[in-house]
Amino acid sequence: MADNKQVVKHGDISQRVGVEVIRARGVDVDNLIKMLIANAGAEFASTYYYYTILRMHLAGHEDYKEICEDARLEDRAHWELIVPRIYELGGELPNDLKAFHDGAGCVAAKLPDPPTAVNILTLLLESERCAIRSWIAICDITFGKDPRTYDMASRILNEEIEHEAWFIELLAHERDGKIVPSGHFRRGTPGEAPYSKNAHFYNP
Ligand code: ZN
Ligand code: FE
Repeated sequence: MADNKQVVKHGDISQRVGVEVIRARGVDVDNLIKMLIANAGAEFASTYYYYTILRMHLAGHEDYKEICEDARLEDRAHWELIVPRIYELGGELPNDLKAFHDGAGCVAAKLPDPPTAVNILTLLLESERCAIRSWIAICDITFGKDPRTYDMASRILNEEIEHEAWFIELLAHERDGKIVPSGHFRRGTPGEAPYSKNAHFYNP
């Protein structure tokens, strides 16, 4: 199918076959780039930045702090994983941090008032839920058409689903005195990111 839709000419550096082939399979590349920038904004601005503040305010709960730190560093890994893909697709980040923040696909996880552990854990939980919805939307539009973006989005989704389970477990314990196991134990090192690989590779 792609063979009779070849658009990139010999030696042409203004277009990309990596884009041509996914467009030929039905991906709306401009829309995909917009969604990836919004998701990158959610990872970097709505969560990584604000989780730093949330983690500080879980003082006295070393267990909650560590899990928050895992989620924080893994969201940073998601940002690092997805940004190169935006450029490969021919997109770019806004050259303005405020515009980038304001275009994020999830609301900023600002320190709640009062900053109790229950309020912070609730905010963390709902932030992870937004991330799950955002990444599965990328999976939906790339499945069977853009294996590279799909692979990245599904790795990220794996970790976002784990993050939701962690915060359900912690919030159930802290707020309701209930046991709702996440099914997981702590990461080996903070923010290990087993699917998006914080520690083991950079800009795949
Ligand atoms: Zn994330
Ligand atoms: Fe997350």
